[in-house]
Amino acid sequence: MVHENRLTAINQFIEHCRKAPFYRERLPDELLSSIHEFKKIPLTTKEDLREISPFDLVCVPHKKLYQYHESFGTTGRPISTWVTKEDIRLHAKNINSGGLKFTKKDILLIRFPYAISSIAHNLHFAAQSKGACVIPASSRTTITPFTRVIDLMQKLKVTVLAGLPQQALLIAETAEIMGLEPSKDFPNLRAIFTAGEALTTGKRKLLEGIWGVPITDNFGMTEIGSGAISCQFGRHHIPGDECIFEILDNQLIKEVESGQIGNLVITTLKKQAAPIIRYVTGDRARILPGKCTCGEEYSFEHHGRSSEIIKLGSRILDCWDLTEIVSSFPCQRFWVAGPNAEGLKFVVEEEKSGDSVSTDLINNLEERYKLKLEIEIVPKGTLYDRKELFEVAEVGKPRYIYTAEELEQKTYLKPVKI
Ligand SMILES: [Zn+2]
Repeated sequence: MVHENRLTAINQFIEHCRKAPFYRERLPDELLSSIHEFKKIPLTTKEDLREISPFDLVCVPHKKLYQYHESFGTTGRPISTWVTKEDIRLHAKNINSGGLKFTKKDILLIRFPYAISSIAHNLHFAAQSKGACVIPASSRTTITPFTRVIDLMQKLKVTVLAGLPQQALLIAETAEIMGLEPSKDFPNLRAIFTAGEALTTGKRKLLEGIWGVPITDNFGMTEIGSGAISCQFGRHHIPGDECIFEILDNQLIKEVESGQIGNLVITTLKKQAAPIIRYVTGDRARILPGKCTCGEEYSFEHHGRSSEIIKLGSRILDCWDLTEIVSSFPCQRFWVAGPNAEGLKFVVEEEKSGDSVSTDLINNLEERYKLKLEIEIVPKGTLYDRKELFEVAEVGKPRYIYTAEELEQKTYLKPVKI
């Protein structure tokens, strides 16, 4: 989905990227004469970025460097990124183009980690640039445990809560255990801002139902910045003049047909300090044609990490598919899934005593998804020990997918914090 009219912007960007030691040798010397030539530029991989971090992607003089971030490095050596003040302004502008319009009346509680990653800072800047007041309440510190977050939200009349979708769920769980009802006892809350996990339609509905407010979601990453943002109608859009999103086949050679799921490759057209050309993000996604009610021509759907999939024969199920199946269960807050001998197994926590998935529903789902399903309902607290909500503050991204062996050995009883 790269149009010829982007050629001038791409050529200007390539000129800028040549200032980086990493790109000097990799980019063509001549101006590109077609988008076809752009698609021949070598891909940039995570391994490349690990190799050249922290300095070889920098394209601006030292005095223009404004902030430094790294990926968490949970899956290997961390990846560095730098931003100029203009870069942060750009990410903020993108965040503010979404469905959540900050005003001077807003009190925003940010529950993203502030250490080393970028989303908390980009959002912080975005909200303040519109006059909102920010409460930094990082999830990766023992200073702001869940109970304190609840206290801050009520005491300070928080209007917008921001964090991983899982954080929004855990804060709601904490509130409920404290005897509060999220949709009633936080009357000033008007919106939730999420990022960091694929927000499927089912998960969005679950969280909006619990809190009674709309969600704006940001698909981004430390290396890229703020990426795609959801509009007031809940669909994600790509800031056309800032990024090029390509969806490539599994060989990473050509673009898939419009609307098909593939591997997301991003070019950041305006990032100054550490720009990236044709970056293989490791995410599954698709671009949906068809005008959104907000007026955007294309919508973007993030289907989760390419490494977090379940293979059943030649069939691939990603986080999007799994969450959509779970969204029809009567209990859907905490679950894990993996392959079993006959098909797909879910282990799901009951929400109220006696929750069950009827045979009719299982039959319907098996028919719709053309696979054999086993669903085990386990008591509340089996997959996530609620005592942790009152003991520690640190909670990472959730893990949903397990191997058949791990399911057999019930490894999910001791979930790994990522
Ligand atoms: Zn829209």
